[in-house]
Amino acid sequence: MVTIQNYVRAKSLEEAYELNQKKGNCILGGMLWTKMQNRMIQTAIDLCDLGLNEIEETEEEFSIGAMVSLRQLETDAGLNAYTQGAVRDAVKDIVGVQFRNLATVGGSIWGRFGFSDVLTVFLAMDTEVELFQGGRIPLKDFAEKKQDRDILVRLIVKKTAGRFAYAAVRNQSTDFPVIACAASCVGGEYRLAVGARPHRAVLLCDEEKFLSGGVKEESVKAFANWAKAQIPTGNNHRAGAAYRTRLIGVLSQRLFCKIGEA
Ligand SMILES: Cc1cc2nc3c(=O)[nH]c(=O)nc-3n(C[C@H](O)[C@H](O)[C@H](O)COP(=O)(O)OP(=O)(O)OC[C@H]3O[C@@H](n4cnc5c(N)ncnc54)[C@H](O)[C@@H]3O)c2cc1C
Repeated sequence: MVTIQNYVRAKSLEEAYELNQKKGNCILGGMLWTKMQNRMIQTAIDLCDLGLNEIEETEEEFSIGAMVSLRQLETDAGLNAYTQGAVRDAVKDIVGVQFRNLATVGGSIWGRFGFSDVLTVFLAMDTEVELFQGGRIPLKDFAEKKQDRDILVRLIVKKTAGRFAYAAVRNQSTDFPVIACAASCVGGEYRLAVGARPHRAVLLCDEEKFLSGGVKEESVKAFANWAKAQIPTGNNHRAGAAYRTRLIGVLSQRLFCKIGEA
């Protein structure tokens, strides 16, 4: 059980950051993960008054505030038009609508959970993370970083012309994924993000140029075989490493074929 001693609705990001420097204090997202822990929080810091609950779209980019819910991602027309529904496909099986109305982008990305559909899908795009102290850094670099006491302010997705597709395998609907794959072709570069390996999601770019001649049955197969060898997988109680590696091969072929049809 979580016990909260003090609750503060921060009036500015500066105030939230200062409060968050004290070990024992904690930023609140939707609290769905935090509430499952057994811990005492001295001061819970709520960002709900800081206007971070909007998805803003300009000609160049999407700006997604840390307090945007997963349900907002799922239903945002602009984001889903740009990603051909990949964002919706990534979050639609996360527990249920009521859960997705509460779970936030900030908590999901900050957590860098191994099982994260959210981290996986955004890794396949041109995404940056804006940190209060650390400024803007690529999501790929953020995903590799250890947790510190900074604040995730927003995600920025550049509207580089691209095609996207997402698929995950679950043993049972609404369970954590056994594997999560997001494929993309962004600015001509083919990419595959794989999460739930069961470790944290990683991004693989087509450095060997398997797909540079276009998405054809043979080139997709060659890329998939290469991806299987490049991406380490592991065992947990949901699935074994060999099964996960096999799934990477199957899903990446399906996703790149889907991208090729567009
Ligand atoms: C039962 C269950 C099933 C789930 N299934 C899936 C699934 O299938 N796929 C999937 O992708 N995810 C899944 N999740 C994860 C979920 O989608 C959210 O990612 C998770 O709950 C964290 O989001 P939150 O808003 O609840 O964050 P919280 O629990 O409030 O916060 C999580 C952590 O992030 C920190 N934090 C929050 N916001 C910020 C910020 N702006 N800056 C800095 N630190 C911050 C908090 O201090 C805390 O340490 C599941 C979670 C649960 C509890």
